[in-house]
Amino acid sequence: MTLRLVSLDCPSCGSALHGEGLDTIFFCDHCGDAATLEDDGLQMVESTALLPSPGRHAREWRPAWLVEAEVTVSDRMRAKGRQSKGWQARRTFVIPAFATPLEDLTRIARALSEAVGETGEVPREPIHGGTLALDDAVTMIRHILIGNEVRKSDMLASLQVDIEVVESRLVAIPFEKSNVGLRCAITGVTVRNELGIRN
Ligand SMILES: [Zn+2]
Repeated sequence: MTLRLVSLDCPSCGSALHGEGLDTIFFCDHCGDAATLEDDGLQMVESTALLPSPGRHAREWRPAWLVEAEVTVSDRMRAKGRQSKGWQARRTFVIPAFATPLEDLTRIARALSEAVGETGEVPREPIHGGTLALDDAVTMIRHILIGNEVRKSDMLASLQVDIEVVESRLVAIPFEKSNVGLRCAITGVTVRNELGIRN
């Protein structure tokens, strides 16, 4: 094992980036740019923010991937070998990139992806780091799409899902505190923080 020391200075403005142990995603609270930690160091990623819904407030910000993808669902087979119609469309997904139990992640990713609203400037205040790589976010998108197809309850037997990422950005998501964890200030969906630990 090789020990790798990486300077966590913002590649854009040079300010110190703040993160915790396993974080690989960082937002700069000085300039608002975002970066991911790769094998060869910090790589800048285009960044934006989603704004709280009217009447809700941002008490803290957490990272997510905003992914625009060309989705193709094909070879959709129902039981007894009957084929049903597939589809193709460009879709936008928001996949939170911080640690939360999988069922919470799925729930909030679905809600946020349906509610993608106005984007705005990244706030110049501390934004928590994240751990979910873009590849894992795409896996999550696949999981959501397959879940949607299965929910159509027409005895789905198999299908092919192709996801071509057209554009990806890191996006800051506003949250309020709730007594079980974090309440999304866009969708109102509550997720447990980390591994279900109250904060
Ligand atoms: Zn910066």
